[in-house]
Amino acid sequence: MTELEHKQDRAPVPKDWTYAPAPESTDIVSIRGRYGLFINNEWIAPSESYTTLAPRDEEPLAEIGQANEQDVASAVGAARGAFENGWSAVPGSERAKYLFRIARILQERSREFAVLESLNGGKPIKESRDVDLPLAAAHFFYYAGWADKLEYAFPNRTPKPVGVAGQIIPWNFPLLMLAWKIAPALACGNTVVLKPAETTPLTALLFCDVVRQAELPPGVINIVTGDGRTGAALVDNPGVDKIAFTGSTEVGKAIQRRLAGTGKKLTLELGGKAANIVFDDSALDQAVEGIVNGIYFNQGHVCCAGSRLFAQESIAEPLIEKLKRRLETLRVGDPLDKNTDVGAINSRMQLEKIEELVQAGKDEGAEIYQPPCVLPEKGYWFAPTVFTNVAQSYRIAQEEIFGPVLSVLTFRTPEEAVEKANNTPYGLSAGVWTEKGSRILWMVQRMRAGVVWANTFNRFDPTSPFGGYKESGFGREGGRHGLEPYLTFDE
Ligand code: NDP
Repeated sequence: MTELEHKQDRAPVPKDWTYAPAPESTDIVSIRGRYGLFINNEWIAPSESYTTLAPRDEEPLAEIGQANEQDVASAVGAARGAFENGWSAVPGSERAKYLFRIARILQERSREFAVLESLNGGKPIKESRDVDLPLAAAHFFYYAGWADKLEYAFPNRTPKPVGVAGQIIPWNFPLLMLAWKIAPALACGNTVVLKPAETTPLTALLFCDVVRQAELPPGVINIVTGDGRTGAALVDNPGVDKIAFTGSTEVGKAIQRRLAGTGKKLTLELGGKAANIVFDDSALDQAVEGIVNGIYFNQGHVCCAGSRLFAQESIAEPLIEKLKRRLETLRVGDPLDKNTDVGAINSRMQLEKIEELVQAGKDEGAEIYQPPCVLPEKGYWFAPTVFTNVAQSYRIAQEEIFGPVLSVLTFRTPEEAVEKANNTPYGLSAGVWTEKGSRILWMVQRMRAGVVWANTFNRFDPTSPFGGYKESGFGREGGRHGLEPYLTFDE
């Protein structure tokens, strides 16, 4: 006892126990100075390139190829060649082995991928480590299981691969969206040309190493980097049989217009403005966690983010109080710090869009709350924000902000909640918080949303189909439903 006290006297006791940085080392990642396009399992030098940045400090990370029409055409040619010269005839049980291999390599290299994802995209390492990577691997595992069971998935129909799939993905979940796209496509016997988002190409490029490590035949997976022009060239290429797109509603509509009449298959996973509805009988503290996860997860760069909170009038005040208190504990900062809850905004462009909409919210008369937090000087940052006194007609209640900004509205009855929740051009997801199972079922039947979470939010599982209604797009990804867009049937 005496000794302990003695030691205690001499031990350096921190003055403030609330925070000590826990930075994840970047040593595990080796970023090349320059990347080519990945076609036929080879790196092809592009004619043009651009620089990809780290959103946390705007430091350049690498030079990335800007694929032009000819580059896209040669990637599509490679995919066509691989499809016709063997891949489509590989038995499902063999294709499954490749998918299992990819899944296992992703698990083995998950720390490397997680660090790179946070570095290039700005999301907190605890999210890329605990959400993006495990889910990406799980998608490959899950679809590996379907590869030799397609006839059972669609009994009395003869499923056949579509051919070459052109896949265009956004910057909010770069590797996870790649997995959502590539895993079902390969399981069904297709070959792919995938374009990652301009701002977040690095994990897709690291994935090319995995493709080689897994010894996939050349041409089965091709990755072409570049901006929207590369995406447009992929959409327009006549050798592509199917386009799978995740991104903004605006670009989704443009793609749909361009594909009309071409016979190409199309799935669109677009924007959202999800209602997260909290009834007065719900467990409020639990609901607060769900609200925080719903809108501040991944800086709110989530298509299914719970960006509209509907609080039942009788509990609105205490709920908002609790929420504000919880917001004060969120740690905003370096994405590579394991303590960080809210990381960097993905790009300057996205930051400006958030700022513009937040200004619109203030101008229209909503009341803004932001917890005190010191934002880093360099990089792209936005404090977690809550708007109260929001009217349905305000832009912040109608438009997708795609940032850490919550709009709070109120309601009195379940009918009113449904009416308000559905008052949006979107229909991707929703949340309901209540103790009553019957009320959950009543709400779910009436809400026009592809996914409704009950007493939770932002839960994902490869076995569960995901997709939207209305301007949130069409087609489903995940689950057995996720196979269908990659198949044709003799009927
Ligand atoms: P985009 O829809 O522009 O980007 C999605 C993907 O499409 C990217 O790979 C993009 O390339 C590509 N693309 C862009 N233009 C074309 C085109 N004409 N033809 C084919 N492909 C194209 O989204 P942004 O990144 O510009 O973000 C804008 C807004 O969209 C966000 O503020 C957010 O509201 C919403 N969004 C929604 C997402 C969702 O999951 N629902 C995901 C991302 C954004 P590039 O990256 O080079 O532009």
